Amino acid sequence: MKIDFQTTESFVREMDNNDPLAKYRERFYIPKGKNGEDCIYLCGNSLGLQPKSVRAYVEQELKDWETLGVEGHFHAKNPWLPYHELLTEQTARLVGAKPLEVVVMNSLTVNLHLMMVSFYRPTAIRQKIIIEADAFPSDQYAVKSQIKFHGFDPQTSLIELQPHDGEATIRTEDIEALIKKEGSTVALIMLGGVNYYTSQFFDIERITRAGHVAGCVVGFDLAHAVGNIPLRLHDWNVDFAVWCSYKYLNGGPGSIAGCFVHEQYANDSSLPRFAGWWGHNKQTRFLMGPDFDAIPGAEGWQLSNPPILPMAALRASMEIFDEVGMEKLRTKSELLTGYLEFLLDQHVDEGFTIITPRDPKQRGAQLSIRVHSDGKNLFKKLAEQNIICDRREPDVIRVAPVPLYNSFMDIYRFAEIFVDCVSK
Ligand SMILES: *Cc1c(COP(=O)(O)O)cnc(C)c1O
Repeated sequence: MKIDFQTTESFVREMDNNDPLAKYRERFYIPKGKNGEDCIYLCGNSLGLQPKSVRAYVEQELKDWETLGVEGHFHAKNPWLPYHELLTEQTARLVGAKPLEVVVMNSLTVNLHLMMVSFYRPTAIRQKIIIEADAFPSDQYAVKSQIKFHGFDPQTSLIELQPHDGEATIRTEDIEALIKKEGSTVALIMLGGVNYYTSQFFDIERITRAGHVAGCVVGFDLAHAVGNIPLRLHDWNVDFAVWCSYKYLNGGPGSIAGCFVHEQYANDSSLPRFAGWWGHNKQTRFLMGPDFDAIPGAEGWQLSNPPILPMAALRASMEIFDEVGMEKLRTKSELLTGYLEFLLDQHVDEGFTIITPRDPKQRGAQLSIRVHSDGKNLFKKLAEQNIICDRREPDVIRVAPVPLYNSFMDIYRFAEIFVDCVSK
């Protein structure tokens, strides 16, 4: 959709009035600032807001626990034994997968390790991992520790993708060229689908294809992509993917994470894996036999019986995603982020630079703004004006306009206050 953006407040009101998703803001609690007014919450990339419906979902499980005790596993309104299956279809739609390919379990970094146990199988010739240079620290720690675990040295076995000098984001053709050059020594390519720092959305399909041509396994950390951008993991032939649910998915702080394993591995018993009883054949799990028999597909990677309360909270949010659909969310998201960019561009060279890709197709719902003066102080001034966004060392402020609950007026007010603070 192409809209001629304008800087007037009346334009902003018109955008909000014509926004088919505007009503969804009502379904979330917006934190209040000092004066009792709604904060301008632009931090859904870090912790998504609470859907008002969460309480009823969680209370149902508390009630069933209260009245049924252990019987809740079978007789709760939504029996706990298969409870995680309530999230399967929705999760599959969200990431463009078959139900067999997804499961909710554990937390993100745990899932990343579990996936690497199965999919990072280095040999003397092919042992390297490719990651982006400014990957999220937890991902860097995870891949480096896996390399060491297999007896290799991250100094030589980890390849970090660097942007060109003077650029903040990585060109797809550079990624392809690197894969072509180094591919025969690379066991695994593991990138963030959307980079947490710059909001760059990588071309998952092209990178996966290039990786496969070179004989590499290709996995993605979708922490910043899921619930942000429509995904087609099955069609893109991604080998595995992991994500958390507390950012754009509004699953609640530390809520349960997700995992995708491509269908082609659904019955692959040659893959090594760390096993636990919840990944065992459901028909025979409670016979408590000594030998592990994996459930086909992603569910077979489960270890433990999962926490019901976080899953209940996540269900509340997933209902909303299912109702709206990722395509409509993305349409609004591109407009919101585009409008923020437009407003900031009215003030170029006033003490900040946008480092997020300018092409809307190559970014998610976030602009990363490099500030040239004292970022800490600026951030403090923003907070005093009820703006909630976040700051990443050394000098970047991340602003995430979330289409489910942010309005064009949020963006307008933010830009006004930001420009005012940054120029002082
Ligand atoms: C948010 C985020 C994490 C956080 O990991 P947890 O295991 O959920 O604490 C890890 N990696 C990336 C890329 C993230 O964006």
